Formats: sequence, structure tokens, C-alpha cells
Amino acid sequence: MANKIAVLPGDGIGPEVMDEALKVLHRTEEKFGFKLEIEKGLIGGAAIDAKGHPLPAETKELVLGVDAVLLGSIGGPKWDNLAPELTPELGGLLALRKLLNLYINLRPAVVYEELKESSPLSPKVLSGKVDLLTVRELAHGIYFGQPKGLTDEEAFDTMIYRKEEVEQIAHVAFQQAQRRRGKVTSVDKANVLSSSKLWRKVVIEVHKEYPDVSLEHMYVDNAAMQLMLNPLQFDVILTTNLFGDILSDESAAICGSLGMLPSASLGAKISLYEPAGGSAPDIAGQGKANPIAQILSLAMMLETSFGQADGASAIRKAVDKAIADGYRTGDIAKAGEEVLSTSRMGDVICSLI
Ligand code: NAD
Repeated sequence: MANKIAVLPGDGIGPEVMDEALKVLHRTEEKFGFKLEIEKGLIGGAAIDAKGHPLPAETKELVLGVDAVLLGSIGGPKWDNLAPELTPELGGLLALRKLLNLYINLRPAVVYEELKESSPLSPKVLSGKVDLLTVRELAHGIYFGQPKGLTDEEAFDTMIYRKEEVEQIAHVAFQQAQRRRGKVTSVDKANVLSSSKLWRKVVIEVHKEYPDVSLEHMYVDNAAMQLMLNPLQFDVILTTNLFGDILSDESAAICGSLGMLPSASLGAKISLYEPAGGSAPDIAGQGKANPIAQILSLAMMLETSFGQADGASAIRKAVDKAIADGYRTGDIAKAGEEVLSTSRMGDVICSLI
């Protein structure tokens, strides 16, 4: 198994933006002299239509035999009314994440200088470039803690963290910060929750191994507020499954368009890279989707799963240059600006690598 990826385009805009990411991959391979073996597979609604299941056996076998999975997006109104376990969301994407045993979620959020007007935040707040990374614990915490219970009279969930689970994710956050601006903000609710008290204690312990990184702690309610008031203060946000779910969406919202935001979910062996947004049925099949989120997901894959930091950096620089030079898809264009199709944007980025 050497340098093999599974490509799962999925539904809606997934196949359109995936085509552009693959164009960019081929250009990067050519430029930097490496080659990934690619095998395509079905997931989501496309898999339901072709095979009767959102995560067919062939796809499971495929993803378990590769180093990384590049996913487009899944879902759409056509498959909304199926039994929950057969929907693209539960039976496809969530089942895939579980199968790959993913326990770390990385969600960068960048507000480009040239696209500040797309952000709902005021120019006063955006007096520099917002560039933050949420490192979210993905496999434990309140979503998975036992016991859980639900009756008509009472319902409960268990928020539980064990020392080693916190250690594992804290190391990831400090290592990411070392490659960035060297600051970790650990977000918890240690004034109220026991699980957060342990979280904070363990993060402080792990931090001793990273003297070149600064660490601060923030309560989650304050963090939600600070993201709106002063997002420039953040470099890496390290947090739990529940808090990370909410804060990473909040940080995505300040960027203006979902079409710009990649994500990575890392497992011990196989990792998954996908855009932060969904299948965008409102614009699917019309060549209107912004391929940048998919292209930046590819860059994260090259760097994280294949050690191709130079290739990843060249892709990011090409995206920065395309934005700086004024190339826009519909989601990020101002009134009167020329709007590029999905494939034209892909071509522009390839030409800048
Ligand atoms: P969505 O993210 O698909 O779309 C929200 C808005 O963002 C839409 O206006 C859409 O046009 C826009 N948008 C998203 N990506 C874009 C891009 N690359 N370029 C330009 N505009 C873009 O969310 P939704 O409408 O709530 O959900 C649609 C479907 O996607 C649902 O079936 C949902 O379950 C599914 N979904 C899938 C994923 C995933 O695959 N990871 C994530 C979220 C939602």
C-alpha cells in the first residue's frame, strides 16, 4: 500500500469540485515529481442509486486499503426521506468516519484580505488576516459517552474524557501550532464541568513538552464571543468534540463562504479530507460551485498524509494569488465582478502552480 488514495466525489457539487481538485493534483504531481495512485468509489446518494446503499461493501473495502480518502460531499433532497441508517448522511458519511476511526478534526478558517466584504464581521474587527485552526477531538466526549438515556420524562448524555484521549489531541494541537504562529487556546468549561477540569490539567501537562508554543485557556462561552469580537487573537483552538462542533461552524461563518473552507479528519492509519460545506443542491450541476474548499482539502491531504509540504504550499499560494488577482466564483464575487465557472477557477489555480 504505497501512496494510494480513494476519491469519493459523492453528490451535488461533489463531482464538479472533485474534477478541479484532481486537475490540481495532476499539475502538482507534474511540478513536484511524485505520483499518487487514485481509485474512485461511490458514496452517498450516488451509491444508493447505483448499489442500493450509501456506503456499499466495495467502497468500504476500497477505503480500508488506501492511505487517505478525498471526499466531495454527500446528500440531497432526493434521498432525504429514507430510513435514517440508509441516508447519505448517517449511513454514508457518519458510517465512513466511524469505519476509519477518525479522532482528530482540523478545520482551518481564513478570511482573505480581498474577501473581507464577504464576511459578516465589520471591517473594524477584521483589521488583519484571520487565520485560525480549530483542532477538535472527534471520537469521544458527550456524543459517545455512556450511559445515554431518553424517556418521555427524562433524558441524559455523559460527557466523559480520559487522560489519554486528551493527551492525544493536545499533542496534535501543539504540533500544529509549531508549524503556524505558535499559540494554542484551549477551550473548555472548567469553571463548571469535571471533564473540563481534567481536560485543562492534562493540556497543561502536555504543554511542558512544547516550550516554544504559548498556551492560554478560555471558557467556551467567552470563546464564542471572542470569535466575533476579536478573531485575530486566535492561532490554534484546541477543544472537545461538542465545543469544537459549534466553534468550528462559528469560525466558518466569519469567513463568508463555505466554498473556501477545507477540513481534515485524521485517524491512526487512514485520514479523510473534505470541504467544510455540503453538496449545495441549490447550485449543483450548473458550474457555479467554488472548487477552492476541495482544492485546499487536497493540499491538507498532500501535506498531512504524504509529507508533500512543498506541493501543498504551492497549491495554497496559487489559491492566494488567484484571489489576490481578482478571480471569483459567484459565492465570493461582489456585484459587477466577473464570475468564473467551477472549471475556469480550477484552470486558473492550475496555471498559478
Ligand atoms: P451546504 O453546505 O450544501 O450549502 C449551504 C450554502 O452554501 C448553499 O447556499 C450552497 O450553495 C453554499 N455552498 C456550499 N458549498 C459551496 C461551494 N463550494 N461553492 C459555492 N457555494 C457553496 O448545506 P445545506 O444546504 O444545509 O445541505 C445540502 C446537503 O448537503 C444536505 O443534503 C446535507 O445533508 C448535505 N451536507 C453534506 C455535508 C458533507 O458532505 N460533509 C455537510 C453538510 C451538509
